[in-house]
Amino acid sequence: MKETKVVKFGGSSLADANQFRKVADIILADPTRRFVVASAPGKRLVEDIKVTDMLYNCYELASEGEKFEEQFNLIKERYNGIIEGLGIQDFSLDEDFDIIKGAFSHMAGRDYAASRGEFLNSKVLAKFLGFDFIDAAKYIFFNERGEFDWNKTSEKLAPKLAKSEYAVIPGFYGSMPNGTIKTFSRGGSDVTGSIVARAVDAMIYENWTDVSGFLICDPRIVNNPSPINTITYAELRELAYMGATVLHEDAIFPVRAAGIPVNIKNTNCPQDRGTMIVSETAEPCEHIITGIAGKKGMSVINIEKDKMNSEVGFGRNVLRALEKSNVSFEHMPSGVDTMSVVIQTDALAGKETAILDEIRSRVHPDQLFIESNLALIAVVGRGMKSARGTAAILFTALAEARVNIKMIDQGSSELNIIIGVAEEDFEVALRAIYNAFIKVKK
Ligand code: ADP
Ligand code: ASP
Ligand code: MG
Repeated sequence: MKETKVVKFGGSSLADANQFRKVADIILADPTRRFVVASAPGKRLVEDIKVTDMLYNCYELASEGEKFEEQFNLIKERYNGIIEGLGIQDFSLDEDFDIIKGAFSHMAGRDYAASRGEFLNSKVLAKFLGFDFIDAAKYIFFNERGEFDWNKTSEKLAPKLAKSEYAVIPGFYGSMPNGTIKTFSRGGSDVTGSIVARAVDAMIYENWTDVSGFLICDPRIVNNPSPINTITYAELRELAYMGATVLHEDAIFPVRAAGIPVNIKNTNCPQDRGTMIVSETAEPCEHIITGIAGKKGMSVINIEKDKMNSEVGFGRNVLRALEKSNVSFEHMPSGVDTMSVVIQTDALAGKETAILDEIRSRVHPDQLFIESNLALIAVVGRGMKSARGTAAILFTALAEARVNIKMIDQGSSELNIIIGVAEEDFEVALRAIYNAFIKVKK
């Protein structure tokens, strides 16, 4: 369907009646915006609580056998405020609220609870726009292992959408083979949007949020960073994985498989161009790097042993030890006699001793220790391949900012350089890198 656009609106775009109006104006301005994926109401102000978080909290009370009416009423108020603010007549969510409340009392599951945020918001939006409402529970599927099942989904979703001219589909959730509701991880409405775009072979997937595109760096850390005009799926995947949360990291896969471009746009400034995400681009990069992102909460297992390079199977044995504790790793930079394995601290929690003992018995290292409170920073850009001196600019910037680099890893595609720094240096390091590269035009 080449004349079809799929549009996804995030929580802040649908946080209250005023935002709903902006969203409706955007959708109705273009008749090819046919399929709309909606999030749950997000924050209206910084100190506000997202409806998804209210639902998690409320369900936790219910599952502990505590009273949850008060919390539940606050959720009802959010929706009723939107319905009243929009002046929608002959419409009420009261029956749904009763069903949901009953399900909370009967332990319907945490994912079910969270999914109601998008379910209810999409019903309101569909009514306001006069569009069909298509429940994701019946058309988006996970397999027995809890992984998204594209084959089953496309078989059911594509014919359903083909029968509808205009529809709203709730983001964030689908069904397990036994019919229970399962959600994607947080921010997962982006993934639903991408799946719907692929199912209808959309000409574009527009992802509407509260920033004018993908910015070179997290705007909460660097003041007013420039937006990125065009970015490739591969670059974006690196940045999203490393914490640039504007688009869920898994949202790339469905659209990439079908070559559908993604346009990140701002609901509050619809005239801004935003960021185009494409498979390849001939557009030269304005700077050597395309973007910077990073995350805290990392640990490194450091292993030292003389001549480890000549020991066949050394690396495999170390990784086997991780596998035995069911832990995956992020990066594995190595030297002649040293090897470091970077792991998310949360994933390691409670398993440290078992893993260290296993490594010790398998490879008999000279030194073995875990260093925690590490942050990783990814400097990403397709332009780095052809530019000289990228590493020099990076290291000079960090040295001048007095940041000690604890680890360096460069991807073989030359698309990224990953560095590890102490968590306390994270923000300073990001700002220093941003300033160094954005000052240097290619
Ligand atoms: P939505 O609710 O619309 O899905 P999100 O909160 O998931 O929006 O994502 C948008 C937010 O991502 C922005 O408000 C911004 O704070 C944050 N963010 C982090 N890194 C970046 C980046 N590199 N570019 C743009 N926004 C970023
Ligand atoms: N509402 C869900 C969340 O807060 C999903 C989303 O917004 O994409 O994570
Ligand atoms: Mg999001």
